[in-house]
Amino acid sequence: MNTQHETGTGAGTAHRVLVLGAGYAGLAAAVQLAARTARRTDVAVTVVDAQERFTERLRLHMTATGQRVAELSVPALLEGTRARFVRGWVTSVDADARTVRLDDERRLRYDTLVYALGGVADTAAVPGAEEHAYTLNGTQDAELLAERLDRLDGGTVVVGGNGPTGIEAAAEIAERHPELDVVLLGRQEPGTALHPRAGAYLRGALDRLGVQVRGGTTVVGIRPGAVETANGGSIAADVVLWAGGTRVSPTAAAAGLAVDARGRVVTDETLRSVSHPEVYAVGDAAAIRQGYGVMHGTCQGGMPSGVHAAVSIVRALRGKQPKPFRFGYYHTPVSLGRHDGVVQFTHPDDSPRRIYLTGRAAARYKEVVTASPWPTYGRMKTMPASGAFWPRGGRSARVRGGAR
Ligand SMILES: Cc1cc2nc3c(=O)[nH]c(=O)nc-3n(C[C@H](O)[C@H](O)[C@H](O)COP(=O)(O)OP(=O)(O)OC[C@H]3O[C@@H](n4cnc5c(N)ncnc54)[C@H](O)[C@@H]3O)c2cc1C
Repeated sequence: MNTQHETGTGAGTAHRVLVLGAGYAGLAAAVQLAARTARRTDVAVTVVDAQERFTERLRLHMTATGQRVAELSVPALLEGTRARFVRGWVTSVDADARTVRLDDERRLRYDTLVYALGGVADTAAVPGAEEHAYTLNGTQDAELLAERLDRLDGGTVVVGGNGPTGIEAAAEIAERHPELDVVLLGRQEPGTALHPRAGAYLRGALDRLGVQVRGGTTVVGIRPGAVETANGGSIAADVVLWAGGTRVSPTAAAAGLAVDARGRVVTDETLRSVSHPEVYAVGDAAAIRQGYGVMHGTCQGGMPSGVHAAVSIVRALRGKQPKPFRFGYYHTPVSLGRHDGVVQFTHPDDSPRRIYLTGRAAARYKEVVTASPWPTYGRMKTMPASGAFWPRGGRSARVRGGAR
């Protein structure tokens, strides 16, 4: 029997918009599309994700230390809208045939695609990371780590990578598991991207939590029980968490979409793929150029990119030209356990301003930021314009020679 079948993503001749990924960026696009086409029976919006539960990536370090976080259901969020949710793992995109293949052999057709599959920890960066390290890629990975940490009766946890994800995870583990030694490794000292005084505060807070910070350390391998470093040494580790950079799914490159050296979909100013204009790319999976350079993956930029893609699609459906996407960073909030943190306010190009918050005020600020996406999606269902406010970045975001 031929098990392959095609699932239409809308009735009859409706224009089919298919959103791949219901993370921070994809869900912003899906809710905006649903709201902005609510009265149009000629547009059908479908969103696909491997999980029905929204992955609050900003809370995965909390999940990894056994803290309960809310169960947020994507299908429940989309109830009352005309957007349809399909659960499935995307295995391939056929950009010529304009179809998407799921792991159960279903095939979904689209007229317009929003590519929002996000990114994962780059376990390919170091031999042994894939086999021997935990990651914060999703709720299940974080829960696996939580179970392992609970079973440890003393011992050492090594966190590889001291960007914001590694710092937050190390701090959270040290606070929740004072019985464990926590070692944070990275090429540079943690917090070097912050204002010098904010960086010093961050390192002091890690020290107060008992995290052993070892900057200037390059990890070259992970094997059972140890992490190997570039200077020929090794650090004993009962558990390794890998947070040393991110990579994206190979799906876009395999589909023949133009991608950058990291596999991210290269977009034009309006967030359309430069090779396939019927494909929009948003969030961590997209290489979006602004005047100051290519955006790096954050939720603060991912959600606006999803909103903008939806607005652009609706404009195109009305026969209008999509507008350029502009975004300027405004903050880097880093939690340091539940009661401490650093919030670095930034220039649009993400360089640090002189202003920053520390301590409980920073922890509260971070919690507000972390909690805000879900109610924002709820509001956007009826008031899509409420999701369209973000700093545009002024002159520094404007791409030279691009559309104004
Ligand atoms: C611990 C931690 C803390 C962070 N803190 C911050 C912060 O404070 N501020 C900030 O701005 N950013 C933060 N980030 C980064 C932020 O989470 C990401 O930039 C953001 O999630 C990107 O959104 P996205 O929609 O592109 O991808 P995601 O949110 O990762 O969503 C991608 C979605 O695609 C789905 N998916 C992936 N592959 C497939 C497939 N093949 N088939 C079906 N579905 C698939 C996934 O299930 C997921 O739902 C943090 C990240 C981590 C890990």
